[in-house]
Amino acid sequence: MGKYDEYREKVVEYSKMVFSKGYTAGSGGNVSMLIEGENALAITPSGKDYSRFTPAEICIVDLDLQPIEGTMRPSIETGMHAAVYKNRRDVNAIIHAHQTFASVFALINEPIPPIFDEVLFNIGPVVDVIPYALSGSPELVENVVSKLGNRCNCYILQNHGALSLGQTMEKAFANMELFEKAATVYHHALCTGRAVSTLPESVVTPIFQLLQMGQDAEIKRKSEI
Ligand code: 13P
Ligand code: ZN
Repeated sequence: MGKYDEYREKVVEYSKMVFSKGYTAGSGGNVSMLIEGENALAITPSGKDYSRFTPAEICIVDLDLQPIEGTMRPSIETGMHAAVYKNRRDVNAIIHAHQTFASVFALINEPIPPIFDEVLFNIGPVVDVIPYALSGSPELVENVVSKLGNRCNCYILQNHGALSLGQTMEKAFANMELFEKAATVYHHALCTGRAVSTLPESVVTPIFQLLQMGQDAEIKRKSEI
């Protein structure tokens, strides 16, 4: 078994789940995992249909974007994934997709406020909007980095799609599901024209502190490897 096989297999498994959830069509979106103990990531190849990935096609690239293993061209968003791993040491897996209701907020350019405590516990108090820049551009990487300091796990990419982070691939995927559910319900609530209630600050602050404590524990664990 190759050194990176377990990462390649998990990236393929979750890419297929993103596709079967309908969060992306064709080759839109990309999925990656940080390689534990190395400054490297496993990421989906560029422009390849999600339903047809194989583990051998997953690219292994270092955080400075130098290829380590793989014959395919890595995703055009590899720079964005690497920048997240460099700037958010709590994150070990990333999913970028183009799902419908997150994309509604990408067009109206509006963040999702704290509306459900399940979102608060796992994603944080806001799903903020990262300002538009062309897919795959250094400007998009800069815009993403400018928002990561809010320590939340999901972001809306203006006029583009969605970004979900997690300490594990399972968590990045679960966060993406929660994000799409919150976006769907918030959209429907806004469509009623009635006032939308949000969670009280007395709940938001302590729960967000819990989420950040979990992130700090992961950063500490990794610093001791
Ligand atoms: P890749 O196929 O290069 O990963 O690009 C898809 C995408 O969603 C760009 O934002
Ligand atoms: Zn995209």
